[in-house]
Amino acid sequence: MDDGKIFGRGHWAFFWNLIGWLGNAVFFSRFFVQWYATETKKQVVVPVLFWWLSLIGSFLLLLFALFYDKHYVVIFAYAFTWIPYIRNLIIHQRHKEAHLSCGNCGQSCPPQANFCANCGTRLTAARETVS
Ligand SMILES: [Zn+2]
Repeated sequence: MDDGKIFGRGHWAFFWNLIGWLGNAVFFSRFFVQWYATETKKQVVVPVLFWWLSLIGSFLLLLFALFYDKHYVVIFAYAFTWIPYIRNLIIHQRHKEAHLSCGNCGQSCPPQANFCANCGTRLTAARETVS
């Protein structure tokens, strides 16, 4: 089986094929993460893990394309996808930081919430300090 089809071009070929398949596995797994979250909540949701798996998977595939496959079609396919992935992770982090902490029980509440979901305390006082 040394015909160069899959693992026939030495140790580097094996290494880069491993990186490429790992990238495929990580990238593909994100669909199950998103699907599971959507089925669980009975509404379309995109968990933060989806963006991490997108970022890591496409980065591994970009490395494979740049250093092994070297085909510009494949390189282009993964060259810019990190931009929306990182942007979504930044927006998620900012939204998380904008959450209001309940003065009564310490529960983290969504930025637009008026009352604490845990104890019912009004959150307007906390909102004024956020601006
Ligand atoms: Zn509370």
